[in-house]
Amino acid sequence: MRDSWPLGVMRRRPRGAAMAVEAVRPQSYQEVAGLLRRASAEGTVVVPTGGLSAVTGAVDIQPGQLALDLTALNRVLEIDELNLTARVQAGVNGLELEELLNRRGLTLGHFPSSLPVATVGGLIATRSSGQESTFYGSIEDLVQGLTVCLPDGTIAEVLPGPRSAIGPALHEIFIGSEGALGVVLDAVLRVSRLPAATHGRGFDFATLEAGLDAMREIVQCGVRPLVLRLYDREDTAFQGSTAEGCLLVAGTAGEAALAAAGMAVLEARCGAASDLGEEPFRRWRERRFHLSRERLLETLAAPGSFADTIEVAAPWDRLSALHAEVKAVLAAEGIGLCHFSHAYPQGCCAYFTFAGSAASEAEAEGAYQRCWEGAMEACFRHSATIGHHHGVGQVRAPWIRREMGEWWQVWERVRSSLDPKGVMNPNAVGAARKTSS
Ligand SMILES: Cc1cc2nc3c(=O)[nH]c(=O)nc-3n(C[C@H](O)[C@H](O)[C@H](O)COP(=O)(O)OP(=O)(O)OC[C@H]3O[C@@H](n4cnc5c(N)ncnc54)[C@H](O)[C@@H]3O)c2cc1C
Repeated sequence: MRDSWPLGVMRRRPRGAAMAVEAVRPQSYQEVAGLLRRASAEGTVVVPTGGLSAVTGAVDIQPGQLALDLTALNRVLEIDELNLTARVQAGVNGLELEELLNRRGLTLGHFPSSLPVATVGGLIATRSSGQESTFYGSIEDLVQGLTVCLPDGTIAEVLPGPRSAIGPALHEIFIGSEGALGVVLDAVLRVSRLPAATHGRGFDFATLEAGLDAMREIVQCGVRPLVLRLYDREDTAFQGSTAEGCLLVAGTAGEAALAAAGMAVLEARCGAASDLGEEPFRRWRERRFHLSRERLLETLAAPGSFADTIEVAAPWDRLSALHAEVKAVLAAEGIGLCHFSHAYPQGCCAYFTFAGSAASEAEAEGAYQRCWEGAMEACFRHSATIGHHHGVGQVRAPWIRREMGEWWQVWERVRSSLDPKGVMNPNAVGAARKTSS
């Protein structure tokens, strides 16, 4: 059993069906605790699973290991409309949660493209980020508390309060832990009221640098956009946009007066671009979940095909050079596209997509590996982090120690003290990448 990692799909292609593994689908917290206790005693490897939409190879379960399917823990335990929190079990589907909140006039504001398939537990365990993160924040901003089960069966419950200074916020080590430290059972999530008004436009920038400058000025001037997505020239054309240069999709939301004022600021900061009106924003919103797991698998169905996405983040002054270097690497192998989203005052995420086809499976894997290696090396040259929101799994394992430096030791000590028997997910956060499956 595996997640949606493109290289995992490519390697499985010649062989066909995946190997069967033992899976359990616990119905209660006590059942999870009992399973983990027994696994620790017997030394059985356990891998928590949600919607299997991770794209890193974090879920790659072998015979003899146990798949711990959390999707039966699917209850929304409480929605507190006054204090704006929702307590939700780990197996709740992301889109179903969002629709339920919407019916109450609320939103989680977390919109990864995989929302229709991902679970709350998976979104937390991969440290995910949604398309409107510039406004609502990423998952770490949305998690107020967690209930987790440790590998020895101990259940640690949600702590009180909207914020606390009673020691470090230890639950946060589970955000991005990819099932290495135990199992997320439920989360108290910060929710928002649905915005009264939303405005959106598209702008056509003559150069990528002019678009990046405008994005930076917008997020540094104090306005909080709903969305800012700048596509490079090739990605603009790929999107089917009428823009001749680089398309920026920009939006604001909130109280009517705030959303309108925010949009006025955005328009002023985009003065160097041609205003394309509301259509690009509308079109982007309609198609926001079109990059589905099914489409990814379709793309990879043909023998010799390869494709993946690489999302990294860099300070503003390094983005243009990083973009040029990674694009050159990708273009040498096939198609390379890039858009910039998830903007912060300090920098931004660059999201590269690559695809191509080769004469043999071995050549396809070679091209795939060269794309990743070139992109990762460019990150190290430009003070970029090698991963913004998909996590580590197997795909980034070869580079994680280089990025983390001495923090790697801290992580290893945390991991081995919580999981001394080493039974939790062996492909989480930094396991060695296999050269063949
Ligand atoms: C088409 C597509 C688009 C995507 N778009 C985005 C995007 O816009 N933004 C983004 O951030 N990500 C995106 N992703 C990747 C993202 O990592 C996953 O979609 C999602 O976060 C994983 O959730 P899941 O429930 O599918 O988890 P799974 O894939 O089942 O598991 C992911 C990891 O979490 C662990 N895990 C799962 N549940 C638990 C639990 N309860 N306790 C402890 N560990 C657990 C697993 O062991 C594994 O390591 C996309 C993926 C696809 C296929």
